[in-house]
Amino acid sequence: MIQEKELTAGLSTKEAEKRIEKFGFNELQHHKKASAFKIFLSQFNNFIVWVLIAATIISGIIGDRADAITILIIVVINSILGFIQEFKTEKSLEALKDLAAPTCKVLRDSSIQIINSIYLTIGDVVILEAGDRIPADGFFIESSGIVVDESLLTGESVGVNKDSKNKKANSGFMGTTVVKGKGLFKVDCIGMKTEMGKIADLIQNIEEEKSPLNKKLDSLGKILVVICLVICAIVTIMGIMRGNDITEMFLLGVSLAVAAIPEGLAAIVTVALALGVSRMLKRNALVRKLPAVETLGCTSVICSDKTGTLTQNKMTVKEVYLNGRIYELDKEKLNDYTKFMKCLVYCNDCNYDFTKKKMSEALHGDPTETALINMFFKEVPVLESFQSNANRVFDIPFDSTRKMMSVIVNEGGKETCYVKGAPERMIDKCEFILENNKIKPFTYQKKKQVSQFITAMSSRALRCLAAAYKEENLVKSEKLENNLIFLGITGSIDPPRKEAVDAVLKCKLAGIKPVMITGDHQNTALAIAKYLNICSTEDQVMTGQQIEAVSDSELEKRVKKVRVFARVSPSHKLRIVRAFKKTGNIVAMTGDGVNDAPAIKESDIGIAMGISGTDVTKEASSMILMDDNFSTIVAAVEEGRIIYDNIRKFIRYLLSCNLGEVLTMFLATLFYLPNPLSPIQILLVNLATDGLPAIALGVDPAESDIMRQQPREKGESIFARGLVEKIIVRGTLIGLCTLLSFMVGRYYGMNLETCRTLALCTLVMSQLIHVFECRSERHSIFEIKLFTNPWLVGAVLISVILICSVLYVPFLQQVFHTVPLSVKQVLIVMFFSGIIAFINSVYLLIKSKY
Ligand code: ATP
Repeated sequence: MIQEKELTAGLSTKEAEKRIEKFGFNELQHHKKASAFKIFLSQFNNFIVWVLIAATIISGIIGDRADAITILIIVVINSILGFIQEFKTEKSLEALKDLAAPTCKVLRDSSIQIINSIYLTIGDVVILEAGDRIPADGFFIESSGIVVDESLLTGESVGVNKDSKNKKANSGFMGTTVVKGKGLFKVDCIGMKTEMGKIADLIQNIEEEKSPLNKKLDSLGKILVVICLVICAIVTIMGIMRGNDITEMFLLGVSLAVAAIPEGLAAIVTVALALGVSRMLKRNALVRKLPAVETLGCTSVICSDKTGTLTQNKMTVKEVYLNGRIYELDKEKLNDYTKFMKCLVYCNDCNYDFTKKKMSEALHGDPTETALINMFFKEVPVLESFQSNANRVFDIPFDSTRKMMSVIVNEGGKETCYVKGAPERMIDKCEFILENNKIKPFTYQKKKQVSQFITAMSSRALRCLAAAYKEENLVKSEKLENNLIFLGITGSIDPPRKEAVDAVLKCKLAGIKPVMITGDHQNTALAIAKYLNICSTEDQVMTGQQIEAVSDSELEKRVKKVRVFARVSPSHKLRIVRAFKKTGNIVAMTGDGVNDAPAIKESDIGIAMGISGTDVTKEASSMILMDDNFSTIVAAVEEGRIIYDNIRKFIRYLLSCNLGEVLTMFLATLFYLPNPLSPIQILLVNLATDGLPAIALGVDPAESDIMRQQPREKGESIFARGLVEKIIVRGTLIGLCTLLSFMVGRYYGMNLETCRTLALCTLVMSQLIHVFECRSERHSIFEIKLFTNPWLVGAVLISVILICSVLYVPFLQQVFHTVPLSVKQVLIVMFFSGIIAFINSVYLLIKSKY
């Protein structure tokens, strides 16, 4: 309980600003960022590109200088595109880091403020609770049961007790975490001056590990490089053997290698992931680890907390059990409730700011507890004078394993112990019951009767809390929470989130099981789960007690059916995650408290609460929900699926196009035809089709039925479900059609330049048509709404304009050795570039109709 007099102990904002100016920010020195120039240079850090540059320079010296210059310009433009991609990725990763920066609760200007920890300064007073990471070095000026995990500094995993009254044991260090208790902490050392500053490298940053997909693509890329190089070598050698010009053939081979090697593949995956991450952020999901995006799309079970995630966490006490009966607070007033009120108000960790007039502004704390204060007090001064009657001398804070909280308060020299907590646990600890101000024995009969009231209240979706106390002479007895006098029960309603209903439905359609995990009573949980359609029958509920009674293998059987886990402790969560994982599920699991961290780490996707979550859970998580909202998880899963789909889309596009390019040249060599494209033209194709359209596919919107598909399996190859076949078939057809248009030109006796122009246009146009086909694996090109991806339309238009100018601008004709095409020739190009897409679309349309 932090009283007003302590609130005033903080610094003023003005003073804090002065000190920040004097002492600097509370931050550890960053690792050096890659500069823009460095990123640009790294684009040239590619062996093949160097070979191309060298070959071009040599050919420029001995042969066609204009050609050489054009090639160099194209290489530079390509590198600029690559640079823009990578720079953007770098920037969005940096922005992510800033967002994930830790915050802390500090007393400033007599009120509690949540600030970014870098603005903390010497003299600040910080409020610390279990789960908080200590943001600077300093000492506790007030402590209640504080235990700190200092293993990061000392390697010692046993928690260290801190006591504000003991000068030898009151210090705390940046980066260590509070595992129990709460207290006030005064900062005396910040930034690089702290103990942690001396070992700054240990501080964890956002992990930039490569995603499994990225790694797989890296190794696939290497295989493709080898294949491409072999084919290019064959093309070059056969060309030379047939008496073609050596430099020309060499340049052709290298250009083909540059065009065909999908060196950008892994980079585009990173761009797609990073862009996806920023889209997710707009939907309130902050991704901390890039690989999580990939896993999100495979999620088959979402284990969610109830309070605050599926519900609004806006508690109001609706019913009270007191003096042997139930009161409905909307309709009637309580009688004889003084002791009951004292218990609920004194045994309460709300913070008060009595300078504020409105109750809502004066009161801060856990909604379960603020509801209790609001039940009794409507005006701040009345609450203030009530509070001033008692002084807390000892407390055992609430924790979600015990599900209880106790305090000893001094009321005018008389000490009383008040306890509140989960009713079933409290009943066993009570020997007496207070009814109408008379203490009576709490008989077996009476306990049974009270239990029935609890069952009834919780079935009405009420979150129940029992209150009890102990007389002064008993306070000093050996066990604080025994021999209690039962007072009564409160039942608070916490309305379900409206949007959660839709989100649950969406999950089910998407083949994802929504599962509720809560510390609340099974009946309360069931009532809310039924409302949200998470489950329908009682046998889908399992309690913490039942979890303890079964073996791991039994639990694995049970989780197939169970959708609600009630009265669980954080330790049960770990077993639940493991059971789901063992049965082949990909599990997303939410958590907020310190004790949730192990389960979050164990799950495939650990999700921490942005608002109510502790630093420790956030650090263990791969994603943070900025709004603590269940529907945000579902939105994130959807984004995960979109991103994965888009990655498949551009892999399909890039590889089939590149295959088409290579095959065109390779088949021509096999059939003893002249080269259908010159080196410059090959590079031009690469520039027109590989860059912008592929990136635009990376931001393609979702297909409308994306959340009506089953989740994909985790180990599934990116090429699964027929992607390889699609790539090979389409790549071959693109190559054949290009070659056919070239041969048709020759058949009609057109000159080589015209035939090459035909081939160039057919190759580019078939790729630009194919890019639209790649937008869907299930639907034909006729069913796709063109303008839902304006980027793609724009990118394709730019490419078309580029090709048209190469054909019709005289200067460019010279540079690229093209000729303007007649109407008849344009028709040939349109036929060969459109025919396959047309046939394929008709086939898909018929298939989807019948
Ligand atoms: P969920 O997991 O859905 O978020 P929860 O975390 O709110 O649920 P707990 O906080 O573990 O669940 O609470 C479990 C039970 O403990 C409650 O049903 C209530 O009876 C009791 N309880 C909750 N808060 C307090 C408190 N501040 N003091 C005493 N008892 C409490």
